[in-house]
Amino acid sequence: METNGRHIYTDLPDIKIDTAIRSKYHAGFPRTTQPDTLVIHASAGPNPVVWVRDAAKYKNPREHLYYKGIALFNYDIEMDSGEIIEVIDPANFVHANNAGKAEERCISIEMEHLTNNETPFQDIQYDSLFKLCNVLIGMFGITRVASHNFIKKTYTNKTKVCPGPGFDWNRVQSYLDSRQLNYVRVEEAFLNIRVKTAVV
Ligand SMILES: [Zn+2]
Repeated sequence: METNGRHIYTDLPDIKIDTAIRSKYHAGFPRTTQPDTLVIHASAGPNPVVWVRDAAKYKNPREHLYYKGIALFNYDIEMDSGEIIEVIDPANFVHANNAGKAEERCISIEMEHLTNNETPFQDIQYDSLFKLCNVLIGMFGITRVASHNFIKKTYTNKTKVCPGPGFDWNRVQSYLDSRQLNYVRVEEAFLNIRVKTAVV
């Protein structure tokens, strides 16, 4: 599978592709299967891209993990501007979701949150998130949209406040409804999403 950079974003012209993190640390691992899961995270701190890119400067304790392709993410969505930044090409996966062997099924989307993931995200971030979902659902056989917390619980039986109580899952439901996608909602997850079969 090859996404070749920008061409998947023809309907999303404002996306920014960051090549600094992938060239400095790790470009991710090639997938051997199509991703089917979008995993929503939140950063619990400002500027996750800068926090990772300039890790030494900020004494970021995870720096050593980034070189191993751990704790990176495919996308970041900025809080003030709603800008979408591709950090790791979605053709590749990173160990970001505590999903074990299912990591390569996951595309990780980090929502910037300036503090603790407890207060609301911005409307413009949801707008960007759903534009990105349109592209990724169109491009891949996505069947799940879930929180990091849900994925971590599913695969490790442990929890994490990610993306946390500030994230409004009803908005995801409205988005899926607007796309006429069918799903089963379980806690912070939408499973088996697929286009409604036309009734004739
Ligand atoms: Zn997370």
